[in-house]
This record gives sequence, C-alpha cells and structure tokens, in this order.
Amino acid sequence: MENLAQQRCFHHVRREAVARCPECLRFFCRECITEHNDRVICAACLRKISGDKGVVRHPWRVLGISAAFCAGIFFAWIAFYAMGKALIAIPTSFHDGTLWRALSSD
Ligand SMILES: [Zn+2]
Ligand SMILES: [Zn+2]
Repeated sequence: MENLAQQRCFHHVRREAVARCPECLRFFCRECITEHNDRVICAACLRKISGDKGVVRHPWRVLGISAAFCAGIFFAWIAFYAMGKALIAIPTSFHDGTLWRALSSD
C-alpha cells in the first residue's frame, strides 16, 4: 500500500499530496484537488468530466456553426434590403425637412 504522506503533488513536486484523484490516480496537493459530487478529483479530470457533459462534440457541430453563420449573413442582407426599401419609401419631403412643417399645426 502506498503511503499518501510520502507522495508529492503531480503539479507541485515540493508540496505534499493530500489526496489521490480517483480518475487519473495521481496524487495532488490541497490546491490542485477539488471536491465534486462528494468526491475529491483533480482539476484536469473535473474539466474533462464537466466538459464531456456540457459540450457535445459532434462532427455536425461545425456544419451547424457554418449554417448559423450563413443564416446570419442572409438575415443581415434581408435587414439591409428592407432598410433600403424603407429608405426609398420615405418621402423626399422627410429629407428636405418639409415633412415636419407639414405635420405641425401651423
Ligand atoms: Zn485526475
Ligand atoms: Zn499541487
């Protein structure tokens, strides 16, 4: 059986290990180990576990991003097109400033 007190942290060779990560089976100091779901785990393994849950690594994901990008450009184009149409639709009196005079009661 290995003696924990004689073990050193995987990241800090000069520090005494306080716990062993159940995932990678390496020894870590107090700073390098964290509690997760009632068990101690190293930062790297925690990141790996939470990463596997959170981020879905799928080849279609890249395609989805590209599609979203294309859709963004398309909607931006539509917006600019609509804006252009709206600008054309605005009467010339608006640009002259005469529209406001016409709208006012005097
Ligand atoms: Zn670990
Ligand atoms: Zn450490």
